[in-house]
Amino acid sequence: MDLVPADDSETTGEQKMGLNSETTGEQSFRSLEILKLDMDKEFDEQPFGVDYGKLENGLVYYVKCNSKPKKRAALALAVKVGSVLEEEDERGVAHIVEHLAFSATKKYANHNIVKFLESIGAKFGPCQNATTYCDETIYELFVPIDKPELLSEAIEVLAEFSSEIRFAEEDLEKERGAVMEEYREDRDADGRIYDDYWTLVFQGSKYAERLPIGLENVIKTVSCQTLKQFYQKWYHMGNMAVIVVGDFSDTKVALDPPPIPEFPVPSHEDPRFSYFVEPEASESAVCINYTMPVDELKTVKDYRDMLVTAMFRTALNRRFYRISRKKDPPYFSCSIDDGDLVRKVQAHTIESTCKENGSLEALESMLTEVARVRLHGFTEREISVARAILMSSSESEYMERDQVKSTDLRDSYAQHFTDNVRIIAIEYEAQLDKSLLPDILASEVSKIAEKYWTSCSCSIQIVEPHAYATIDDLKNIVMKINKLEKERSISQWDDEHVPEEIVHSKPNAGNIVQQLEHDNIKATELILSNGMRVCYKCTDFSNDQVLFNGFSYGGWSELPESMYFSASMGPRFAQEIGPCGHRLSVLKDMLAGKRVNVNVAVTPYKRAFYGHCSPFHLETALQLVYKLFTTNVTPDDEVIERVMKEKEDEILSRERDPYSPFFDRASEINYGKSFFRALTGSDFQKVNPLKACEYFNSCFKDPSTFTLVIVGNIDPTTAVPLILQYLGGIQKPPKPIFHLNGDCIKGLPYEFPKTTIREIVWSPMKEEKCMVRISFPIDLKKGAMEEENTHAHFLSQLLETKLLQLLRFKHGKIYDLSVSKCVFGDLPCLTQDIHGVITISFSCDPKVSLKLVGLTLNEISRLREEGPLDEDVKSIVEISQRNHEKRVENNSYWLNRILNSYQSRIYSGDVGASFKILGRARSGVRKSLTPSTMQLALQRLIPRKTLHTVVILMPQISWFEKLRSFPQWNSYGIDSKVLAAIAGLTVLALGLHRYSQKS
Ligand SMILES: [Zn+2]
Repeated sequence: MDLVPADDSETTGEQKMGLNSETTGEQSFRSLEILKLDMDKEFDEQPFGVDYGKLENGLVYYVKCNSKPKKRAALALAVKVGSVLEEEDERGVAHIVEHLAFSATKKYANHNIVKFLESIGAKFGPCQNATTYCDETIYELFVPIDKPELLSEAIEVLAEFSSEIRFAEEDLEKERGAVMEEYREDRDADGRIYDDYWTLVFQGSKYAERLPIGLENVIKTVSCQTLKQFYQKWYHMGNMAVIVVGDFSDTKVALDPPPIPEFPVPSHEDPRFSYFVEPEASESAVCINYTMPVDELKTVKDYRDMLVTAMFRTALNRRFYRISRKKDPPYFSCSIDDGDLVRKVQAHTIESTCKENGSLEALESMLTEVARVRLHGFTEREISVARAILMSSSESEYMERDQVKSTDLRDSYAQHFTDNVRIIAIEYEAQLDKSLLPDILASEVSKIAEKYWTSCSCSIQIVEPHAYATIDDLKNIVMKINKLEKERSISQWDDEHVPEEIVHSKPNAGNIVQQLEHDNIKATELILSNGMRVCYKCTDFSNDQVLFNGFSYGGWSELPESMYFSASMGPRFAQEIGPCGHRLSVLKDMLAGKRVNVNVAVTPYKRAFYGHCSPFHLETALQLVYKLFTTNVTPDDEVIERVMKEKEDEILSRERDPYSPFFDRASEINYGKSFFRALTGSDFQKVNPLKACEYFNSCFKDPSTFTLVIVGNIDPTTAVPLILQYLGGIQKPPKPIFHLNGDCIKGLPYEFPKTTIREIVWSPMKEEKCMVRISFPIDLKKGAMEEENTHAHFLSQLLETKLLQLLRFKHGKIYDLSVSKCVFGDLPCLTQDIHGVITISFSCDPKVSLKLVGLTLNEISRLREEGPLDEDVKSIVEISQRNHEKRVENNSYWLNRILNSYQSRIYSGDVGASFKILGRARSGVRKSLTPSTMQLALQRLIPRKTLHTVVILMPQISWFEKLRSFPQWNSYGIDSKVLAAIAGLTVLALGLHRYSQKS
């Protein structure tokens, strides 16, 4: 079986598939010439395709013209200064400096940079515009440049960051709060596990104690003086690069920048071990980590070595995957990956997740697999699969070479500056791949396993919710496998047989019974002879992308409680058993080298299949859809047992999670009690695998109920015959499977409470965390659904901006805040009124949560009475306009818009018409936005300011402390109603044991 993409000499139907680059006469990947390569040939030190140099003051610059997306520029200031340069009393300072940059500089006081960004339609999120790492800090801007002054102002902002950050007490005080909340965000199970990993791997190096977030007491007490000293000491032009456009007319005398010291990371022969017990861990896990120096990429040989390593990873991952799909597997999932940890050090990690108390078995299996490769190597077949996968991704990258985004280019230039990563032309890389990959031998790839001896700077971390073993147990496993390997008593890898054809005999093609052109969306709609509706739109946004989504009404809302639990597991069982006629592990091999992905989803109101493919592989994608409709999934005991075990562990982990009682209770309060929820242990007992598979099979049987939308680089002359062959070839069942038509779909029994509810969910947790959710019901009037929906969208944005300004920038009490809008059941077949919810979520210090709830509610009342400011509305319109411009060049935008037009209540058979009405409604609202229309919308959509729910997650503290903390809360001036509500609940808290784990 030849898995390498075919050469042009054997032109097949697949290859002619509408490639824009082919029709314009550009060279295709498949016709690229194979190069005769000199392995010692060095790559250019100059980064490819960018204007690059150094100014007199030492500042490095990168300038590049790129039109994806149009009228935008991505800028960055890359500074080779990170947390590793901090002294002990400065831990966290590099990151705080980064925060202060956005709060004030010489020219922009008072978070005016944030306001500037918003005024030009670039939304500011916490840390969205800068990141501090151990070795560097990167400030990023992404701005529209249709007005010339915007680009120069953006550059000026970066110039201010480089030398003019202001260090004022008042700014610092506010920013401390935000940074503390960012710190608190990481104080959960994942954060603690990562801390343990980091200190284990970097033992003996300064990096071990320099994670950028720093220390709590430094964040709380560091002085402006210390921050300023750090800034002045390290922020020198010679340590910085500006990316995109740069000519700082800096008149300051260029100083010699201080050399950035290197901090060694010692290698070690003895493996290091950590057995980390984390009661809140979401899963049991094993991580085997090997640190090594970052690979240099200077010559063709270096490039080839990189490919060999990539093939090793791909081939080993395939084995790990197959093991995870066996009967009673040692782990649920396992994979090997690599990445840079700090400037000169990379980590190669093999990570697995497994059942509780299964980590030793998992570790043993992981070490055995690496040893197996060392002893017996990979087979030629495995290598040819790996080669096909790499060749395919190289082809895809080559095809998309004109569509590289400005932000991606910016990031690669920043990496070039900070880490000296070479930048090679994509065309040349493709030629290298094509020339080098075919000659790489299985024996070379297998040799890479020599890098993964446990004596090669190896650290092993195990995470379990309870202590089940000791470090000695881990050491014994390492010794045991080393011994077995020495004795050569590990057997060869045994591979599965893989069939070659997805569809054995082609079905009889259907035909078109009706064809409609929708000129306003440039889409064509076909009704096939089996009743399936297919709407396709050809685009050239992306050369190597076709997206599709097919849906049919009728999902879980139709099911009785007795069926729900089994049915909800249907897609998961089916996915593993093989909804397209082949087990997933086998199908993966059959698809190696093909860029195809097909998924299924069952939701409350709909069933859908969706995915993406390369235009080359549209036929394969359609074959998979054909198989989905014609395969009957039958329970396979092995698979069922494995999936049930996995699900059981997920439920256990959910029960351990201190935050899940909060999420559960919040949705119970806002939507009412319903059996449509995440499965609990007792629900799980009711799952019947046979019924689950039966339900799944019935979901994808009747093509006449499905509407499929396809958007992307397709050529109808080849695509339509394939659609008729495979989709038209699906037989319509003699009788309808689901008895649904028109308005008989059931709405979900969701209902917002009739009175205000305020509740605290106490949950025991290792480190104090507090989350707040405030929800308001919204009712959307039937006649003006889309207008009201759009108003609700803009209102959410307004609230998000105003509340972030208030709680983060004015009070410095939160790090992040989100406002989301959720609307239920805007479907043609549902006729009742539409309800929805607007929810405000943030996390904060438990002590101030009530105060922040009060501030939030007051701010909403104020907006209702006074309306927003003109500049608020202008920013929102600008952001929305800018986002819109960005999105219209995306296939996914069009796919979703067309799907929306089919699925909206106003759809009555003509998708072009409903598309037009929806678009008009949206732009009408956008054009009419003023402070007074927004104020009216707020009053209309949230008519009763008193009707809302507040749910707060609080760390479980002792009864005594709880009582004692009340006077303290009172001193914040919380309105008495909130206090009364809380007091009522505190009494209740005694009875709230179901929300707490055993303490
Ligand atoms: Zn930050």
